[in-house]
Amino acid sequence: MTETIRVRFAPSPTGHLHIGGARSALFNYLFARHHGGSFVLRIEDTDQARNVDTATEKLMDSLTWLGLDWDESVDKGGPYGPYKSMDRLDTYQQYIDRLLQEGKAFHCYMTQEELEEEREAQRARGETPQYSGRDRNLTEEEKRAYEAEGRRPVVRFLVPKGQEIHVPDQVRGDVTFDSDGIGDFVIQRQDGIPTYNFAVVIDDHLMQISHVIRGEEHLSNTPNQVLLYEALGFDVPVFAHASLILNADKQKMSKRDESIIQFVEQYRDLGYLPEAIVNFIALLGWSPGGEEELMTVEELQEQFTLDRVINSPAVFDTQKLEWMNNQYMKEADPDRVVALAMPHLVRAGRLPEARSEEQEEWAADLIKLHQEKMSCGAEIVELTELFFREKIDYNEEAQEVLQEEQVPEVLAAFKAELEQLDTWTTDDIKASLKTVQKETGHKGKKLFMPVRVAVTGQKHGPDLQKTIVLLGRETVIARIDQLLHQA
Ligand code: GLU
Repeated sequence: MTETIRVRFAPSPTGHLHIGGARSALFNYLFARHHGGSFVLRIEDTDQARNVDTATEKLMDSLTWLGLDWDESVDKGGPYGPYKSMDRLDTYQQYIDRLLQEGKAFHCYMTQEELEEEREAQRARGETPQYSGRDRNLTEEEKRAYEAEGRRPVVRFLVPKGQEIHVPDQVRGDVTFDSDGIGDFVIQRQDGIPTYNFAVVIDDHLMQISHVIRGEEHLSNTPNQVLLYEALGFDVPVFAHASLILNADKQKMSKRDESIIQFVEQYRDLGYLPEAIVNFIALLGWSPGGEEELMTVEELQEQFTLDRVINSPAVFDTQKLEWMNNQYMKEADPDRVVALAMPHLVRAGRLPEARSEEQEEWAADLIKLHQEKMSCGAEIVELTELFFREKIDYNEEAQEVLQEEQVPEVLAAFKAELEQLDTWTTDDIKASLKTVQKETGHKGKKLFMPVRVAVTGQKHGPDLQKTIVLLGRETVIARIDQLLHQA
């Protein structure tokens, strides 16, 4: 019998979809699709203080934008619902009760202050702080006495002493933990809501999750979870902990790290292409068999296996991200690029909200002219600056070009040609340049470079004829004029 592959992405609704979360979602998605299994989206909202109202919708929006569609979830339903922890409290309660009855969990009445005192004392003795087990064996009478004081208990899991805990991990190999390093941990808080470590085990079991693929930051939770699986008599799923994502300084990426754009929504807002982001994220801790790094989601799906998830930290290389996005941008349908970039020109005040057909067309052509250079839509603002300026700056290398002796002659001849044009098309500009070449005898760089520098201020740029057409006759002539008068 072939095993049914069921995996899940289980975000807590605490904010936007982070790159790390997106990677977990993507790995699970690719794994499910590779094996023809199911991809479940579950919302883990038991940490209510951290929940943010609109986070679930936002997470779903970002996943949808990336193209990671799920098979079962809060919105779609499915055979193992509900798919939100807070809708599953009755279910959790049954298992809490079972563990209590079996003596595998117990009520603990210690206050925060008492716990802190205990930890202080342990630290003073040079021990690693850990729950002492004080309330493990309370009598009914002692419990009643605490309750009479107004105390409300939490439920703690009774961690067996001296046990080796094996975490079967497909990325790291089997990882072994010592149960003595784990204190009796809380599985249900005073308000009756279970903790993450408990809920996740119940949910993964009842939802028949076969593989738990998530980030390395959860590896330290896993022995606690394995203990719960064992105590409840559940089969332990296969784990795969993908490595940490580091920044360029090889430090663990913190949410405050400004060197990296960290949230999927930000990439969308900046006009990135989702398939490029997917490709980039897939390579954060996973590597394909061959050399080729540019891969469609179908190719990723086909090639994705857990044995290629890498056991060493992934470095978030912003330059590679830009490069990869640019590769996709170049290949994208120009109209799509226009749609991504246009709002940025508007937001920058370069284009009015309400545009005439002519303005719209002009802006579309302008964007298409820069498609080759763009990594994301937002870059259009910087790339096209010289189209919106009254005056342009000539940097040092541009100044050098303008010093060449043929320049005044070339520019004057070109200007005279332009003034005679009835229409203003790339063919007209091409013909004008040809004529200047014939008239002055200057060709190649000696001809084109002064013209490019005169009208754009730069030695490099996109197609010259198109640039001139889009700059418009008035601007081009004014820029040349200004140079001729300075000379
Ligand atoms: N709710 C957890 C998180 O957002 C998921 C952990 C897991 O995948 O088990 O980090």
